[in-house]
Amino acid sequence: MTRVTVWNEFVHEQENDTVAEIYPDGIHAVIADALEAGGFDVETATLHEPEHGLTEDVLAETDVLTWWGHAAHDQVEDEIVERVKHHVLEGMGLLVLHSGHFSKVFKSLMGTTCNLKWREAGETERLWVTDPAHPIAEGLPESFEVPEAEMYGEHFDIPQPDALVFNSWFEGGETFRSGCVFHRGKGRIFYFRPGHETYPIYHQDEVRQILRNAAEWAARDDDAPDITRGNAEPVEDIDTSDDRTVH
Ligand code: ZN
Repeated sequence: MTRVTVWNEFVHEQENDTVAEIYPDGIHAVIADALEAGGFDVETATLHEPEHGLTEDVLAETDVLTWWGHAAHDQVEDEIVERVKHHVLEGMGLLVLHSGHFSKVFKSLMGTTCNLKWREAGETERLWVTDPAHPIAEGLPESFEVPEAEMYGEHFDIPQPDALVFNSWFEGGETFRSGCVFHRGKGRIFYFRPGHETYPIYHQDEVRQILRNAAEWAARDDDAPDITRGNAEPVEDIDTSDDRTVH
C-alpha cells in the first residue's frame, strides 16, 4: 500500500475563523481524508511537531509527501529542507500544493524564485486538462471550474515543466500553469495550484481526484534501476592499446 505523509504548516486554521470553519481539523485532515478514500496509507505531520514531524524514520517510510504552507515558510528549518530534498532525489514523491510554490523545499528543488502574480478576489477559475494522456488527468473532464479561487497569474518563475497537466484561466483574464510535473533525481514532483485556505477547495471532488491520481503517479518506485555515477569501467570491450587517457 502506498504510504503518504500529508504535511501542513497548520497556522491559518488556528488564527483565522473563516479558515477554521472550512478546515476545523486543519487542511491536512481534509487532504488526508481525500487520500484515504483512495486506499492510501496516510499519516499527517505539522510544523510545530519536533523536526516538523519529518524525522528520518518518517521520510524513509514515506512514498509520497504532500506539502501545504503559506504563512510560515521561513520557520521551516534548513536541515529539514535538506532532508526532504535528499529523500526526493532518492525517489520519494512530492506534491507541492498552492502557496507551497514559495516553500524552501520547492524553491530549492526548482532553483528559481518560483514567484508569480496573485489577487484575492473570489474569482472563478477554470482548469483545462492540457495533457489528457497523463495519469494525473485520469477520470477528469476536459475542464472544470473552481467557483471561488485566489488568482495566480503568469509569469510563474519555474523551470520549464517536464509535463504540463493543467492550465488555469481566471475570471480577471490571467492564465497560469496549474499542474506542473518535474523529475529530480529519482523523485517525481507535481505542483498543483488550487487550494487557497479561505475557500473550500480541498472539499471539491475533482480536486480530491487529482490529489489521489498525483499520489499514485508520484509514489516511490522500488523497482527503479540503480544509477551509477562517477568514473566507470566500460560495459563493452574497448581497445585501449593506444592509451586514450594520454593527451
Ligand atoms: Zn493562497
